[in-house]
Amino acid sequence: MTVRTRVAPSPTGDPHVGTAYTALFNYCVARHAGGQFILRIEDTDVARSNPQSQAAILESLRWLGLEWDEGPDVGGPHGPYQQSLRSETYRTYAAQLLEQGHAFRCFCTPERLEQLRSAQQRAGVRPGYDGRCLELSPAEAETLRANSTPFVVRMRVPREGICVVNDLLRGRIEIGWETVDMQVLLKQDGMPTYHLANVVDDRLMEITHVIRGEEWISSAPKHILLYNYFGWPVPALCHLPLLRNPDKSKLSKRRNPTSILYYRRMGYLPEALVNYLGLMAWSMPDGEEKFTLAQMAGKFDLKRISLGGPVFDIKKLTWLNGRWLRENLSDEEFAERVQEWALNRDYLMRIVPLVKSRVSLLSELGPLTAFFLSGDLNLNPKDFDDKKMSRDVICKAFAQVLAGLDELVTWNKEAITAVLKQSADAFQFKLRDFLRPFYVAVAGSTTSTPLFDSMEILGRDLCRVRLRRALELLQTARPATTDAEVD
Ligand code: GLU
Repeated sequence: MTVRTRVAPSPTGDPHVGTAYTALFNYCVARHAGGQFILRIEDTDVARSNPQSQAAILESLRWLGLEWDEGPDVGGPHGPYQQSLRSETYRTYAAQLLEQGHAFRCFCTPERLEQLRSAQQRAGVRPGYDGRCLELSPAEAETLRANSTPFVVRMRVPREGICVVNDLLRGRIEIGWETVDMQVLLKQDGMPTYHLANVVDDRLMEITHVIRGEEWISSAPKHILLYNYFGWPVPALCHLPLLRNPDKSKLSKRRNPTSILYYRRMGYLPEALVNYLGLMAWSMPDGEEKFTLAQMAGKFDLKRISLGGPVFDIKKLTWLNGRWLRENLSDEEFAERVQEWALNRDYLMRIVPLVKSRVSLLSELGPLTAFFLSGDLNLNPKDFDDKKMSRDVICKAFAQVLAGLDELVTWNKEAITAVLKQSADAFQFKLRDFLRPFYVAVAGSTTSTPLFDSMEILGRDLCRVRLRRALELLQTARPATTDAEVD
């Protein structure tokens, strides 16, 4: 049997380090066994998926060196590798389940489902579909269909008994069927949900090992049931421990930057990030902490995964990155990496139009553009002291603008300007006054190059992290003495 693994991200946001972590372990399992590693894009959530996110996922996984054998860009014998292009296939399989009585049409309106949910909440019982449309006679269901009543397709789920999930890392997991909802498989618009598309694709793409985050354990019974309904063998299941913040909470961008592109922008080496992700939940047999992707794949063994929540600790990652920089790069290679990173003509040409009119000496460029070549700006709460805006208002403004920036699919000057202008209006400030603390947070000073252009050039990852850090700094700082002076 050829081992085939896959990573199946949903393109709904920034490329997440958790995706890289899952991809890495799938990659190693496949490479170690001489098998194949597949990239599949799970974009059935049409409203939230976007091509920019998909492109960023491909770019960042490739930057990390996690090359896939089959995928949306490289093709392969089981394509297309993008679920939105496969909806006909899912409909065929849903029809099969309907025909065999493993699934049913549910005509319940969103209002009824909402009422049901609130009633269940009030009664303190587990929320879930109550099976009303299972009671419909074939004639009733046919009449509703003939009248074009909208419906979804749900799977039948046993109401009692136990589902046994055999997990490669955790062994036997027992989940009571009464905890499993009658999952929607096909939505009203005919698009599949994750569960149907995922099972059908894993089968059609001949995936032998499904390796994913532990948050999917509770979905495993639905998947196992679908495999059984279709009469297909269940692939090996393996749920990786979730990455955690140092306080052990689930890794989230509120606490830690989670976008892979942020780490690239900060000047982490792909070798170091991959190496660090390899240390999450895994270790080399000889205990060596620094290793290459090829070394990890060569020695890989799922049995060496430990289930304790792996902590993604930026300090440790930075330490490891330092080792890679110092120990593995010749001066020549170091210089090349710096050029690739930011000290290159392309980047300079983006900055020149902003600085040319502001200098009288070339040597003024250094201080003026330092923030374009920096990571954290090491600011002090006092740097934000402002006659017109109290710290409290600045914090609120930062939070609101951050929320707006998080939503931007396209990162450019126009979009950034719109977010900031809207907030300035909402706070009833003149734009010029409103922008001052943003200059400080993003560029370190109120006298820097124009803010919107600078933000576009710095990029979404760095800008948002700088704003978030500034917000944290002000929230944890003691009240400003100037607050009293604010009118
Ligand atoms: N699309 C799912 C995700 O975004 C994939 C989960 C799985 O690997 O089955 O994590």
